[in-house]
Amino acid sequence: MCVFCKIIKGVIPSQKMYEDNDIIIIKDINPEAKLHYLMIPKQHFANICEMTEEQSIIMARGFRTLAKLTSSLGLDGGFRLISNKGKDACQSVEHLHVHILGGEQLPERIN
Ligand code: 5GP
Ligand code: ZN
Repeated sequence: MCVFCKIIKGVIPSQKMYEDNDIIIIKDINPEAKLHYLMIPKQHFANICEMTEEQSIIMARGFRTLAKLTSSLGLDGGFRLISNKGKDACQSVEHLHVHILGGEQLPERIN
């Protein structure tokens, strides 16, 4: 079982900011910005290239949910979404997740 499936099952603890039937939003264990969350679908699939139509609808709903949570997550100033896919993007956990970065002025470029 992958690390995010373990978090979803509660086998590994996490700082959970939000949960519904389809997604969780947790704090990243190794933050790369003042605020760094991960939006993770509860169904295991590796990345958007492995995503079914039904799972894409779950992700779309997740973005709508995130939009409603912006203030409570401390992201009124703005935020950046990143989803790494594969080796070139340095994806390290093979369970789709969207990084949510904010809480401070982010650099204009990733590098
Ligand atoms: P990737 O490199 O795959 O895009 O991102 C994986 C992210 O998962 C990393 O930012 C890493 O810090 C985070 N991560 C890995 N293991 C854990 C964990 O056990 N708990 C939490 N909260 N985040 C984790
Ligand atoms: Zn998984």
